[in-house]
Amino acid sequence: MKKRKDHYRTLGVDFDATYDEIKNAYRKVAIQYHPDKNLGDQQAEEKFKALSEAYTILSNPDQRRIYDQAERVSSGLNYSTSSRKTAEHSSADLNNIFNDILKPSKSNSKTNEYTNSHKHRQQKTSPTDNVDIKTRGKPGNDVNTEIAISFAQSISGTEENIRLKRNETCKTCEGIGTSEESIQSICPRCIGKGQVSQSPSLSKVKLDQICNRCDGKGTIIHQPCENCHGIGVVKKERTLRVKIPSMTDNGSLLRLTNQGHAGENRGNFGNLFVKVVVEKHPVLERDGYDLKCHIPIGFATAALGGKIEVPTLTGHAKLEIPSGTQPNKTFQINNLGIKKNKDEQGNLSVTVEIYVPTKLNKKQQKLLREYKKIEPKYKFNGKN
Ligand SMILES: [Zn+2]
Ligand SMILES: [Zn+2]
Repeated sequence: MKKRKDHYRTLGVDFDATYDEIKNAYRKVAIQYHPDKNLGDQQAEEKFKALSEAYTILSNPDQRRIYDQAERVSSGLNYSTSSRKTAEHSSADLNNIFNDILKPSKSNSKTNEYTNSHKHRQQKTSPTDNVDIKTRGKPGNDVNTEIAISFAQSISGTEENIRLKRNETCKTCEGIGTSEESIQSICPRCIGKGQVSQSPSLSKVKLDQICNRCDGKGTIIHQPCENCHGIGVVKKERTLRVKIPSMTDNGSLLRLTNQGHAGENRGNFGNLFVKVVVEKHPVLERDGYDLKCHIPIGFATAALGGKIEVPTLTGHAKLEIPSGTQPNKTFQINNLGIKKNKDEQGNLSVTVEIYVPTKLNKKQQKLLREYKKIEPKYKFNGKN
């Protein structure tokens, strides 16, 4: 007959040990053999498994009774469970001790506020605080959004509100996913690792597989938080103030670290990417600190020369066109571009396009007909 495991011996307690004695014994040795403190130590791992199993059974009155009865039959011993000086415990107690050991990782705390709000929960925990089990929450996805700003805002920079929906850390459980009583225990199958090693038959190679008992989280939630149903995040519609720097080009992507979806069960935060769409100015275009525009002028102005009005960032400026100005001639006006600093400023380039009218009134037609009579005959090479 196969020898049964002696859970009392494993925990080093007497047969009539009280619940508290069992709990204290487990806590003392479990820390010593905890997998996070004994990385890669197979023996410690086995020992921890045995301890967890023993504790799971002996701390639960029903399971303990069944175990004792079976033990009595197999050993031929006759002892009575009624002499025990133990009080009956609810199964919630079993989970509480695990929770004492489980300390949520601080590594993915996003803000100071977050860290601080978390402290009160840690303060409630026992001296087993020094055992740190890494949380294995699912990382949050990135959030992508767009924002449209005006041409002038793209130059000066601006601050805008953007509205988005994202998963945020559940305030009720602070992202852990458990109810207020924090009922969460180390997964008995993978003992908190989130992975189990399995040796396929005829192979010495061990394969790590995601633990299917806890989905790789390493912990099991016994009473999920009612607000987030145990995933530690809730959908929120949120307005964020986003700072858009000066001289932002159309199509630029702003990255706001950790402002994407919160990870499930305190997994890392995703990032927020904001694509900046710069609305076109009716006339002006930007080229670094220089501005460019195309201005239509009549052929009479091009031929005779004259003053034309050109747009600037703040209003208008005058530009003197010389007589005989040819189509697509570009003029540069210094210091009408964008200010680089106190002393430097870009330039404004104005390219003139000769506009041929499609509709002429009677007077214009009459005058042009007069002109046409004396218009020079241009040669094919454009010279006369
Ligand atoms: Zn919650
Ligand atoms: Zn597991």
